[in-house]
Amino acid sequence: MAETGPSTAGVDVGGGVVLPQVGFGVFQIPPDEAQKAVEDALAAGYRLIDTAAAYNNEAGVGAGIQASGVPRDEIVVTTKLRNGNQGARSTREAIERSRDALGVDHIDVYLIHWPSPARDLYRESWSDMEAAVGDGLVRSIGVSNFLAEHLERLLASTSTRPALNQLEVHPTFQQRELTALCEQHGIKVEAYSPLGQGADLGSPVVAGIARRLGATPAQVILAWHLAHGRVVIPKSVRPERMAENLDVTGLRLSDADRRAIDSLETGVRVGGDPATFEITQIR
Ligand code: NDP
Repeated sequence: MAETGPSTAGVDVGGGVVLPQVGFGVFQIPPDEAQKAVEDALAAGYRLIDTAAAYNNEAGVGAGIQASGVPRDEIVVTTKLRNGNQGARSTREAIERSRDALGVDHIDVYLIHWPSPARDLYRESWSDMEAAVGDGLVRSIGVSNFLAEHLERLLASTSTRPALNQLEVHPTFQQRELTALCEQHGIKVEAYSPLGQGADLGSPVVAGIARRLGATPAQVILAWHLAHGRVVIPKSVRPERMAENLDVTGLRLSDADRRAIDSLETGVRVGGDPATFEITQIR
């Protein structure tokens, strides 16, 4: 039977940055727990850490990186622009604040967190981000939660294509048209809430595949993402789950199993709707 295995080579997002296909997300990890979570994740073998100014835990993430003993140049650090800091100059200042909070010389990947169309400032923010790359503050720039209309508008106003679009993608919410559009433009897709914030783990289809393959439901879902060529950034504060989620590169799904998971689409998000979402709604 045909099998679909993940690539383990990583995903090149320019600026000398290669994303490991399985990274570690820190949304909803309180500031005073972030250092330990990041130390545990780096000890487990993660080398991509995903945070955001709006998570209010950049300082803890930076402390975890410092305390880990892992050389800085082996770690890819992603952070994101708060909606309230969008715009010319304020974006530059936000990048400098994130860099200071993280305690790093440069940010590897910097993303516009949400398009916030009500503000209509993402093109100005993008210009500041391009300049920050030129000045060595940031290596690779991209967006998050950008729908087709936001991407097309940004692409029409800049010669620098976003390296990636970090999107809510999991078995019950796959955003197939949007991910295909990103691929057409050479924009890599990074799946956030890859387990549906845990909600997709209860699927009987996933459980059946997991039992048959001797894997866990989380591993089956993550292997499904990797088979689709996406970077994933699952979050867990438990070291045993961190290890479980990282241990998926050898797990192969048959085409039939992949299609069975493809069929779980419901069109229901677990996160915010980018057409209207404001970061003030989470913090
Ligand atoms: P996930 O899909 O990663 O799910 C996290 C939940 O699943 C937690 O409750 C965790 O619990 C649980 N979990 C993790 N691993 C396992 C496992 N092996 N078995 C059982 N349960 C498990 O959701 P997130 O929303 O946290 O998304 C991941 C990351 O994506 C975020 O941390 C953030 O970095 C990014 N993100 C980006 C957004 C954006 O707007 N750009 C929005 C949302 C997320 P526990 O911790 O107790 O193990």
